Amino acid sequence: MSDKFDVIFIGAGPAGYVGAIRAAQLGLKTACVDAFTGKDGKQALGGTCLNVGCIPSKALLDSSRQYWNIAHNLPVHGISVEGAKVDMATFIGRKDKIVKQFTGGIGQLFKANKVTPYFGTGKLLKGNEVEITAPDGGKQTISATNVILASGSVPIELPFAKFDGKMIVDNAGALDFAEVPKRLGVIGAGVIGLELGSVWKRMGAEVTILEALPDFLSVADADVAKVAKKEFEKQGLAIKLGAKLTKAEVKKNEVHLTYEDKDGAHELVVDKLLVAVGRRAYTAGLLADDTGVKLDERGRIVVDEHCHTGVDGVWAIGDAVRGPMLAHKGSEEGVAVAEWIAGKAGHVNFDTIPWVIYTEPEIAWAGKTEKQLKDEGVPYRVGTFPFAAIGRAVAMNEAVGQVKMLAHAETDRILGVHMVGPGVSELIAECVVAMEFKGSSEDLARIVHAHPTLSEAVHEAALSVDKRAIHKGN
Ligand code: FAD
Ligand code: AMP
Repeated sequence: MSDKFDVIFIGAGPAGYVGAIRAAQLGLKTACVDAFTGKDGKQALGGTCLNVGCIPSKALLDSSRQYWNIAHNLPVHGISVEGAKVDMATFIGRKDKIVKQFTGGIGQLFKANKVTPYFGTGKLLKGNEVEITAPDGGKQTISATNVILASGSVPIELPFAKFDGKMIVDNAGALDFAEVPKRLGVIGAGVIGLELGSVWKRMGAEVTILEALPDFLSVADADVAKVAKKEFEKQGLAIKLGAKLTKAEVKKNEVHLTYEDKDGAHELVVDKLLVAVGRRAYTAGLLADDTGVKLDERGRIVVDEHCHTGVDGVWAIGDAVRGPMLAHKGSEEGVAVAEWIAGKAGHVNFDTIPWVIYTEPEIAWAGKTEKQLKDEGVPYRVGTFPFAAIGRAVAMNEAVGQVKMLAHAETDRILGVHMVGPGVSELIAECVVAMEFKGSSEDLARIVHAHPTLSEAVHEAALSVDKRAIHKGN
């Protein structure tokens, strides 16, 4: 007899585990199947994000920032530290401990909410049955009225630079180097390449980032990208644009790279290579042949605006479907699907999903870029404010970057906010709230912001839309 549930989630990343908890809260009998194995060989819930993504990268970004500050920030404050050393076992061990704390925490949350976890690979069969293959090969079948596919994504591999886990690595490998590589090559100047490149640069590696596109961070607003590039280069990150990797050969303890740019072919020798050229939806072994669930040309599970696959009772969420590959986007889809199944009004507003890059300076944005508004012919006004004129940022010695606000020229509705600077990963939340409430720049301009705080940059940028910023010329 197979176990029968109201809902089965396949995948316990931020899309699946959050959705499962919400489903259980709503009184649905819920199971969650996940195959991820932790460093200790046991089941590790939380998917890419908790195990080899968001959380461990932020742990290493923070540790490396502390180390970098000793030589690059503390002297400005009149503090000098002699003989600072890094213990790599502690550096990596701290990250592993944080990962374990959070992956274990999901187990506790499942228990508290009565979500039944299964350890193994889930395959959707026709009729909303799920066959689970345990790590030891044992099989069992469970079934549900609704099955939610939340199988996430995996790194894209370049055929001429295949991952070997040692010299040519993906994100998981670059979060686990036993030593600081002397020379690190990074392919792809996207979010992951920039964050992990920053970690190892701060720890003392010579980091060269090769990016095939001619523009830096073209997904972000051009003004933000310009400031960020300048600051990263000041920190010593070598960023080569229009540089396409064409070959990577491991020779003894080195990786020999060939890349092509407008001047022809070049060679570069590094000690480790991180390939961070994007991620693709992961659906290997997920679907029996006759389920009727479709994949698009990029291998993503096809869904409608309600995350429904078109097959009765089968839904899909997170990195495995269209939309930005961000943890919070998947989580909100998980919650929305649980609510739709329970007969409630679920909702995900794709227009206000915040993006954050946790480099130094941080980068954050929500809504449209200036280029998008131009291309769409939307009339807009721009307000900007530099952190150089924010007392708190200067006091912190982090007075770099700016807040840029785009508002509709006629209605003043906020259409986009783009930030680069200190603490902007947190500042963006205020703007997302304003945008979600269909707020105007005037709304933010009229709200009292504490002094002295970094949030005054948001206030002043809002004032600047109407050319009435106080602490700069308009
Ligand atoms: P995943 O987290 O990939 O989880 C899917 C889970 O399903 C995995 O555990 C997988 O093993 C399991 N699975 C797959 N197929 C099956 C199957 N058939 N049976 C059983 N289990 C299966 N996003 C942010 O928002 N903020 C960040 O700061 C951030 N930093 C990142 C840093 C790095 C280095 C990386 C790689 C990613 C980062 N991301 C970040 C992206 C984020 O990790 C993903 O968007 C998020 O994890 C997607 O969630 P998901 O639940 O859809 O999939
Ligand atoms: P993201 O998708 O944000 O993780 O970014 C990945 C980046 O890798 C993109 O900006 C791509 O242009 C870049 N990229 C893809 N293939 C190559 C390649 N062969 N050489 C250099 N950069 C690449």
